[in-house]
Amino acid sequence: MTEQLDVVVIGGGVGGYVCAIRAAQNGLRVALVEKNKTLGGTCLNVGCIPSKALLESSELYAKAQHQFKEHGIDVGSVSLDMTRLMQRKERVVSGLTKGVEGLLRKNKIEWIKGTGCIQSANQVIVRAEDAKDRVLSTRFVVIATGSIPAPLKGIEWDGEVVVSSTEALSWSSVPKHLVVIGAGVIGLELGSVYARLGARVSVLEYQSQILPGVDAEVAQLAQRLFSKQGLEFILNARVTGAVLNKKSKQATVSFDKDAQSVTLQADKVLLCVGRRPYSEGLGLDNLGLFLEKNGTLWVNEHYQTKVPNVYAVGDMIAGPMLAHKAEEEGVACADHMAGRYAHVNYQAIPNVIYTHPEIASVGDTEEQLKAKGIAYKKGSFPFMANGRAKAMADTDGFVKILADEKTDRILGAHIVGPRAGDLIAELAVAMEFKASAEDIAMAVHAHPTLAEVIKEAALGVHGRTIHF
Ligand code: NAD
Repeated sequence: MTEQLDVVVIGGGVGGYVCAIRAAQNGLRVALVEKNKTLGGTCLNVGCIPSKALLESSELYAKAQHQFKEHGIDVGSVSLDMTRLMQRKERVVSGLTKGVEGLLRKNKIEWIKGTGCIQSANQVIVRAEDAKDRVLSTRFVVIATGSIPAPLKGIEWDGEVVVSSTEALSWSSVPKHLVVIGAGVIGLELGSVYARLGARVSVLEYQSQILPGVDAEVAQLAQRLFSKQGLEFILNARVTGAVLNKKSKQATVSFDKDAQSVTLQADKVLLCVGRRPYSEGLGLDNLGLFLEKNGTLWVNEHYQTKVPNVYAVGDMIAGPMLAHKAEEEGVACADHMAGRYAHVNYQAIPNVIYTHPEIASVGDTEEQLKAKGIAYKKGSFPFMANGRAKAMADTDGFVKILADEKTDRILGAHIVGPRAGDLIAELAVAMEFKASAEDIAMAVHAHPTLAEVIKEAALGVHGRTIHF
């Protein structure tokens, strides 16, 4: 029997479920197809949320060991219970994934469990191991199937010693020596977790700086700070392979550096050199759709593929692989289907790396502005000169604001420092409103707060900082 719907969303990650909710709010009859046992996709199950839970626990552990004393707090010797640490992470994840189920129920969206395969522009078949195939007839289809870890030639995941971020989020003990391949977002976040918990962590990076693409001044300071925390960085390292020794449960990682071949012995190897869009078994061929060279699907500004009633959002299409980018696209695409105005401002998408200190940015880096030939002024201010940061004993880092030389409009903002991920919201809103550096400089910021560093950096664009 064919079931008639308005929208079938394939993929229950943040792009998909948010799109489904907005489509339902718009009065459309919606079903969401998800093959995993829980909703929330990579972000909630094996990405943003569990990694943040582990970052929080490991930060507290490191603080108890190294910072409590400074505050006059003696706790004796501090020990780690990995089982409880991981159980807490799992509770955080399951609370949130169940929350998404609740949101679907509240919005009268049916979760159809199984793998969705698009048969034609208006038909999706859902296959599940323990249920009959279901044939869904629909006006619109949304592809929100996300991404999976990208492989690297010469390295094979065995899931135990050589792993992706998914497995590294659930280890039952702390490895002695963790070798991370790729000094990107995942490498630094999970590298930080295990370094704080006591592992030796060596990070191999192909490029000449960590976090390629991040503002170079920020990346350089970050590297210095993370090195002080014990992370070892080997830059300009081209990883060529990893050989697994099944007996010793270790791996030998080989890489080329300075025209020499080098090896490192590791208890665990985390391969995190990017992610790639996931569209296996989706039936794109049935629609005559094909992937671009980088594996993404082409969409127009309304998120329509070349088949206009089939939309795609999130990691399956071009742009940064960020949960909040996928969410915004999900909302915009659901609004477009309902004939509403929809738009995502890609210039004002914040990017956050949840290390300590956090790193956050929005808009262009200095390098990008130079490459575009845009004349800009720069203001920066250190957390060292901020009263709240001093009271928190958390003074590493700075805020940097880049503004158009002529119009003073903010073109980019970069923060490395405490709570950078929360602070960047002010600058993302400022960019959304096309604010000038002067607008931020004139706005009253509460004292004593970390946000005063933003105001001072904005004052710095005109050479008028007060406290530095
Ligand atoms: P990434 O793109 O952030 O970093 C990959 C790193 O691997 C780069 O520095 C790259 O130069 C390096 N690399 C590539 N090939 C290499 C090689 N052969 N040898 C050594 N280094 C090599 O990718 P990721 O860290 O895997 O993250 C994947 C995606 O998930 C990213 O798009 C990221 O934005 C997203 N993510 C975001 C967050 C967040 O927003 N906080 C957290 C985790 C993941």
